[in-house]
Amino acid sequence: MVTAVAYRLAAQRKQIDAALAPFLLSLETLREVKNKMRTELEYGLKRETQASATVKMLPTYVCGTPDGTEKGKFLALDLGGTNFRVLLVKIRSGRRRSVQMYNKIFAIPLEIMQGTGEELFDHIVQCIADFLEYMGIKGARLPLGFTFSFPCRQASIDKGTLVGWTKGFKATDCEGEDVVDMLREAIRRRNEFDLDIVAVVNDTVGTMMTCGYEDPNCEIGLIAGTGSNVCYMEDMKNIEIVEGNEGKMCINTEWGGFGDNGCIDNIRTKYDKEVDEGSLNPGKQRYEKMTSGMYLGEIVRQILIDLTKQGLLFRGQISESLRKRGIFETKFLSQIESDRLALLQVRRILQQLGLDSTCEDSIIVKEVCGAVSKRAAQLCGAGLAAIVEKKRENQGVEHLQITVGVDGTLYKLHPHFSRVLRETVKELAPQCDVTFMLSEDGSGKGAALITAVAKRLHNVGQK
Ligand code: ADP
Ligand code: MG
Repeated sequence: MVTAVAYRLAAQRKQIDAALAPFLLSLETLREVKNKMRTELEYGLKRETQASATVKMLPTYVCGTPDGTEKGKFLALDLGGTNFRVLLVKIRSGRRRSVQMYNKIFAIPLEIMQGTGEELFDHIVQCIADFLEYMGIKGARLPLGFTFSFPCRQASIDKGTLVGWTKGFKATDCEGEDVVDMLREAIRRRNEFDLDIVAVVNDTVGTMMTCGYEDPNCEIGLIAGTGSNVCYMEDMKNIEIVEGNEGKMCINTEWGGFGDNGCIDNIRTKYDKEVDEGSLNPGKQRYEKMTSGMYLGEIVRQILIDLTKQGLLFRGQISESLRKRGIFETKFLSQIESDRLALLQVRRILQQLGLDSTCEDSIIVKEVCGAVSKRAAQLCGAGLAAIVEKKRENQGVEHLQITVGVDGTLYKLHPHFSRVLRETVKELAPQCDVTFMLSEDGSGKGAALITAVAKRLHNVGQK
């Protein structure tokens, strides 16, 4: 009897280990990922290869970080994550140097995210109108920075053609269009107020600029939130599609698309493929789908379904709720993986999700969450190692000291993600001394700072 039980447990263990084995990445594999990322970064920068590159390496026309002389009142919009926000940002320079912000969060209903482009932009302008009304500043024609966190091809700081939607967005008639024009037209349609749209900004760039305001060594911006993306200051001479060889320009890598040519298919699991197939943009953003908040919970759910089918979980019963896409949110990974949490509490969380678990179930679920989030942090670290190594080589130094500005709830709230990410970068880029700096609201403050810098440079140009 005892041996029968022991035998059954050992067999179960084997099956669980087999399911999770593809999530364990050796140092060798992570190095390979770093090298492949490096190759793709180069493709994106080169004139002959950039059109077909999966890591798009989009020039942002942001050529410098703030110098502290920026000042004034700015509006900022933040679109591209979970929430849409409108902000008023007051920047002071000199001895009273400070940034004050007022903001309002607005929901973007699913039917608008996935409706027509006109509806989306009309909704945005409606929110701006509410905010201006609320702040009592409807008459002022303020300069505006538009944080729009989707891949955009830019020809200047205030023009951005949407390459394609990512994350949860899918509004029609926007891809290939200039988002600043769409915003201007929506403002004109409403005919109630006017704004001076100065800059379209990716959230990674806003994050880098916000941290750059405090630390001039910050030349990289990382987002680990709903999506996953990085920007960094690249030498102009390496950016073949932009004229000029002097100085630097910030490149929005859009690294979420890494692997879309199949180059990391060797590490994608059947669960990753299922998540991809059930997503809004199958085949696209493969790296993002392995590393970001929008998808980690969904990967866990796919594994749980598979383990249940194998009779290893939930008494072999796939409950109604486990079938629902999206029920296993990434915040549950954070809760379940918290070291302070007793197993009983894990069971309670699962219960809330409609999953009736035994004590053994909850141990297994915790293990699954750990495997998925650890792989995400390691993959993200391997990508970042490629970036810092590139910067080190650009500068031609033996050792590089650099700061990475970071934003995103996954990085901020997951109990292990940030540590594993840091450890991986250290391991894979030992010649780089990387400081991670949390950005306080990069997409709002950063957009205002970029707008302020652009305004300052524009004014200098006019004088
Ligand atoms: P965004 O990227 O949308 O601008 P955030 O950085 O706040 O905004 O990221 C939101 C994403 O973070 C959500 O999509 C969700 O997947 C994830 N998330 C929310 N709460 C947590 C949490 N407690 N732990 C880990 N991830 C979380
Ligand atoms: Mg954000």
